[in-house]
Amino acid sequence: MERIPVAGPWITDREVAYLSDAVRTAWYGDANRYQLRFEEAFKTYVSRRYAIALPSATSAIHLALAGLGIGPGDEVIVPEATSIATSAPIGYVGATPVFADIDPQSWCLSPASFESCITPKTRAVIVVNLYGGMPDMDAIDAIADRHGLAMIEDAAESVGAEYRRRRAGSFGAASVFSFNGSKTVTTGEGGMLLSDDETLYRRALVLRDHGRTPSSKAFWNQEVAFNYRMSSLQAALGLAQVERVNELVERKQQIFGWYREALDGVTGVTLNYAGPMVVNAYWMVTAVFDPRLGLGKEAAGKALSDDGIDTRPFFYPLSSLPAYAKLPQAREAASWNRNAYDISPRAINLPSALSLTRSQVGYVCERLGLLLRRQQAA
Ligand SMILES: *Cc1c(COP(=O)(O)O)cnc(C)c1O
Repeated sequence: MERIPVAGPWITDREVAYLSDAVRTAWYGDANRYQLRFEEAFKTYVSRRYAIALPSATSAIHLALAGLGIGPGDEVIVPEATSIATSAPIGYVGATPVFADIDPQSWCLSPASFESCITPKTRAVIVVNLYGGMPDMDAIDAIADRHGLAMIEDAAESVGAEYRRRRAGSFGAASVFSFNGSKTVTTGEGGMLLSDDETLYRRALVLRDHGRTPSSKAFWNQEVAFNYRMSSLQAALGLAQVERVNELVERKQQIFGWYREALDGVTGVTLNYAGPMVVNAYWMVTAVFDPRLGLGKEAAGKALSDDGIDTRPFFYPLSSLPAYAKLPQAREAASWNRNAYDISPRAINLPSALSLTRSQVGYVCERLGLLLRRQQAA
């Protein structure tokens, strides 16, 4: 029997056609055609003034931080529950990540914890729209404003999500998306930096192009910077995907609906939350097990894997990772960031690939239901 994948794209003839065209024609003086079209289409979808296609969301966060002038001696606050891709770039610019707790319902940054992490060194906060959900943007925005902090929105997982009818990716000084193979819109690997701030946009353009200003003569670099361009092949794939974005997002929401229905009446499991102001894009259907079950994420993942079902563990709290073991704040974070440390050990991402069928979701829910009942009986 074929394994049920945890994530994966939906590719049609449109993607294949654009990609074939790009690989044949997008060279020489025409080499940027697909990047420009992809940036235009994506920023229109999100409602942002500027967009820059990049090799990854990681590089987009790096450029946002560097473009905002954040560096050594500065602190940047991030939620515990996210990919290290959110926090790693803070280290790239020589600044220090500070880990804040998550809200127990949305699993996104807790406004109160964010505020309690602010020190005179804090320069910015990176909010994360976890698994397609949204944080309490109004509260976070107000706190950031009051303290004069820049907000960066890590919208990598949330294409299609909305908060108060505003699309994910339209918040803060800058926002980023990821198009890696597991994401709703994919280019294989890829990312996008978006902003409404022309100064930040122009600065990011220079930084991604080896410190070359658009007006400078060839090979006349003003400073040492980065090489962060997306290829036309990736952009062609991305353009085809963004032209189908509504279909992709609706499919994610449909998959979540199948799970919700199939798990209706099953006790001991909580799925993704969408607050009254939120449209959740359900990038990853996520199951949090009732603590009374004593069912850990690794045990659950193993049991489902034995049934041919691929899952992912909920993100480990960043402060618990060996990568941050030397950071003094990380050692204290476990006792402060109670929600992240409580939820993470008992939550998993269920299969959410765009190729899933309703009967595959039915099978996953049947096996999961059985696992929960066995656990209850134990
Ligand atoms: C996928 C992801 C990223 C990283 O994206 P890359 O394009 O692989 O760099 C960043 N943040 C979050 C929340 C993600 O899920």
